[in-house]
Amino acid sequence: MWTKIVKKEHLILFLLTPLSLFAVTDLFSQTEILKWPDGKSSCVSITFDDGSMNQFKIAVPILNELELPGTFFINTGNFYTSKYHPKFIGRPIMDILQESETIPTNKSNVFERTSMIRYLREIRNEPAISSYNVNRIGNNLERGRYEEVYETVNEICDILRKSNKTFEAKPVRINVDQDHTTWEDLKKYSEEGHEFACHTISHPHLSALDKENILYELGKCKEDIKDHLGYKHTLSVECPS
Ligand SMILES: [Zn+2]
Repeated sequence: MWTKIVKKEHLILFLLTPLSLFAVTDLFSQTEILKWPDGKSSCVSITFDDGSMNQFKIAVPILNELELPGTFFINTGNFYTSKYHPKFIGRPIMDILQESETIPTNKSNVFERTSMIRYLREIRNEPAISSYNVNRIGNNLERGRYEEVYETVNEICDILRKSNKTFEAKPVRINVDQDHTTWEDLKKYSEEGHEFACHTISHPHLSALDKENILYELGKCKEDIKDHLGYKHTLSVECPS
């Protein structure tokens, strides 16, 4: 069985010995990395992010002419007929905001709050916090600049509380262009030999999300791909950053 893990600018390919050879209790300890088949020394994968129209209008015909299969990492929230759409998973937003009035942001609540902020800022386009950049929060978390993040999150929670609005965590359909690619288009490209793979529902900066929201974005993206294109398109994943 082939398992492929793709991260931006990195490609790691593992060849795993068939699981049926192992006793169930030893699945992990006996995993073996084998050589490429037919004496090949390496493998190249041609990958594209985000599913922009030019990839399908321009790149796919070129790849077809050269008889090269591509791997396209797509955001499933960009398709009208997808089952899952971006939302916030967690406690009621108003409870989180109320709590922020008395409990400053700290290491135990920061990811719940940044997940909520990501939803309100990037999915709901809440105007009161339009000057804040969630990617910047994610980058600061990756670099361990927690104090700066805590300060920014406290500021944003303060603005949201003072807006006197009531925020609810409901799924939101992403507005996409009329001529955006459809699942039917992707089905046709997949029949031409191309692979489609998970790039989350709505392209969040995953470093700024908690576990529940990461699992929703990755797991439900994979489920929509499986339901529309089939199981063989569920092997690869690329995490947005
Ligand atoms: Zn991307």
